[in-house]
Amino acid sequence: MSAKFLKSAFRPSDIPESDKPQIATMGRSNVGKSSLINHLAGVKNLARVSAMPGLTQALNLYEFDGRYLLVDLPGYGFSEAARSRGKGFETMIEDYLAGSPRLKLILLIIDGRHELQESDRFVLNQLTEEKLPFVLVFNKVDKFSPSEAKQSMKKISDQYPTITIIPHSIKNNVGFGELRNAIEKAVRKAAS
Ligand code: GDP
Repeated sequence: MSAKFLKSAFRPSDIPESDKPQIATMGRSNVGKSSLINHLAGVKNLARVSAMPGLTQALNLYEFDGRYLLVDLPGYGFSEAARSRGKGFETMIEDYLAGSPRLKLILLIIDGRHELQESDRFVLNQLTEEKLPFVLVFNKVDKFSPSEAKQSMKKISDQYPTITIIPHSIKNNVGFGELRNAIEKAVRKAAS
C-alpha cells in the first residue's frame, strides 16, 4: 500500500485530468474522516487529524497505490451560507457529486455515537436519489458493546433498508477489511 497527498482543490475543475477511478470520503466534522484516511493509507499523518473542525473547505486529493484517487470532501453540515442559499450543503460538494463520472464509491462516514442528523439524512437521500454508489460507515464502533452497536445499526437499517452499513473503528481494526474490499471492488469494476 502506498498513498500520497496530491493537492487541495478549491473547485472540482481543479482535480487533475486522469482516468483513475475516484473514491470519495464524506461526513460531518469530527466523525473520524481524517483518521480513517490515515488508517486506510497505513500512515499516521497523511490526512490532518484536525483539532479545529470545519476549517478545511477544499477537496483534498490523495493517490492510493497509483490506482485510484481518494477525494476527501469537506466536512458537511448546514452552514449559514448554505442555509441562506436554501441549500442543504456546500455547493462544492454538490458540484463534485453532480459532475464526477469517475466517482465509483462514496464512503459516507458517521460517528456511530450520534443519531443520524438532519444533514446526514439530507445527504443519504441525495445520494440515493442521484443513484450514486455509497456505503455508510458506522464509525467509532469501539465505543459500543457489540449488542449496542448492532442495535444502533439496526435502527438505521430499519429506516434505510437498502443501504450497506459497515461498522468501523481505527482502535481495534473492526471493519477495516470490509472497507478495503468495498473500495477494491469499486476500483476493479471501474477498470473492467
Ligand atoms: P474528522 O474531523 O472527521 O477528520 O475527524 P478526525 O479524524 O479529526 O477525528 C476526530 C476525533 O475522533 C479525534 O479525536 C480522533 O482521535 C477520534 N477518532 C477517530 N476515529 C476514531 C475511532 O475509530 N474510534 C474512536 N474512539 N475515536 C476515533
